[in-house]
Amino acid sequence: MYGVPLHAMQLSLRLDDQEEEPPQGEPPLFSLAAPSVGKPRLTTLPEQPARSRALKMSPLCRAFRNLFFPGATDPQWSDWRWQIQHRIRDLATVRRMVRLTAEEQKALELAGNMLPMAVTPHYMGLISATDPDQAIRRSMIPTVYEMRRCPGEADDPLGEEHQSPVPGLIHRYPDRVLLLATDFCSSYCRYCTRSRVVGHGAITPGTRRLQMIFDYIRSKPQIRDVLVSGGDPLTLSDARIEFILSNLRAIPHVEIIRLGTKVTTVLPQRITPQLTRMLRKYHPLWMSLHFLHPDECCHETQKACGLLADAGIPLGSQTVLLKGMNDNADVMRRLVHNLMKMRVKPYYVYQCDPISGSEHFRTPVSKGLEIIRSLRGHTTGYAVPTYVIDAPGGGGKIPISPDYVAGKDAEGNLRLTNYEGGTYQYPDYIQA
Ligand code: SF4
Repeated sequence: MYGVPLHAMQLSLRLDDQEEEPPQGEPPLFSLAAPSVGKPRLTTLPEQPARSRALKMSPLCRAFRNLFFPGATDPQWSDWRWQIQHRIRDLATVRRMVRLTAEEQKALELAGNMLPMAVTPHYMGLISATDPDQAIRRSMIPTVYEMRRCPGEADDPLGEEHQSPVPGLIHRYPDRVLLLATDFCSSYCRYCTRSRVVGHGAITPGTRRLQMIFDYIRSKPQIRDVLVSGGDPLTLSDARIEFILSNLRAIPHVEIIRLGTKVTTVLPQRITPQLTRMLRKYHPLWMSLHFLHPDECCHETQKACGLLADAGIPLGSQTVLLKGMNDNADVMRRLVHNLMKMRVKPYYVYQCDPISGSEHFRTPVSKGLEIIRSLRGHTTGYAVPTYVIDAPGGGGKIPISPDYVAGKDAEGNLRLTNYEGGTYQYPDYIQA
């Protein structure tokens, strides 16, 4: 299944993403090109002889599947459990799919106690086999640089361990808590803030631990908002997710439930009609979706977001600013525009937390401010995320923004700078 040599990837290029794809014909190129998000679609198709419908997939994922999982049927590939069972997790397998650099190869050989490597076949299909600087590849394939600890870095920079009254529950803000449902993810991001815990099997969705969490929340009437995260809670079964949601919904003072997940990009097959039918019973339910780069917004991800939005779930994105991956105004603009088209509100851009081994991922804060400045006024305000630093030591999220206020003049007028650099005045003489 994995025995296809790298040179076999030089196939023909297909950029279209039509509703049906013929089951026969040339497989597409294992290409570095971005998926065709946003391309105008055909409204009428030329008449063709009838043909059997095939699973609609992003061209890159289809090419990858044809090469490395040629025996996988459409139902198998579309099954999230199959995707998890067939995750790519070891050096020998990765090496057949990706031309590894020395830094990547060494990291996979040394592995040890570091954050495990795992990538779903779907997400691996979006990874470039030949470009080690590709954003999605850098987010998934480890390098030796993550074994280097630099000044200011820590395993738990946000001090979550000190704000955990019950195992797997973080209570930092007065009115809301973070419930870690599991430490399992279908794919592991190399820059994960919780890399100290995820993937090691220490946080499981066992009933006893969850009951302790429900008891704690029940005992604190000020908690009105629960974020269920992890690990990735949507890697649990529908029944287990419903167990968590129904118990939370039964607590009268819990007004809002939020789910944090990355499955819409790494495992979009997880978003099924059955899941969304169950989720919609627990409104008001919100979702925070983890996005990195516009290349993630493939057909499968668009479909998953559409199912969630159609279930009435407000969707917001969270994106970590990462050096050489998305710290670029054009990349970030394409990302927020793709998100808007998928009915996902760009919500937060995070300054990368100083976790151990993260220096090669971190940007100067000035880069984040520059990106926000490039968005504000240049696109709709809905598409402009809030840029935040999660304060090391447990201080919570602190928003930072370019300064558009240039002080007051002698008459008390507020001097403002607009998105084009023009100066304007507002008569700010009303006393409080
Ligand atoms: S999906 Fe979230 S919890 Fe899992 S590795 Fe990525 S950032 Fe960490």
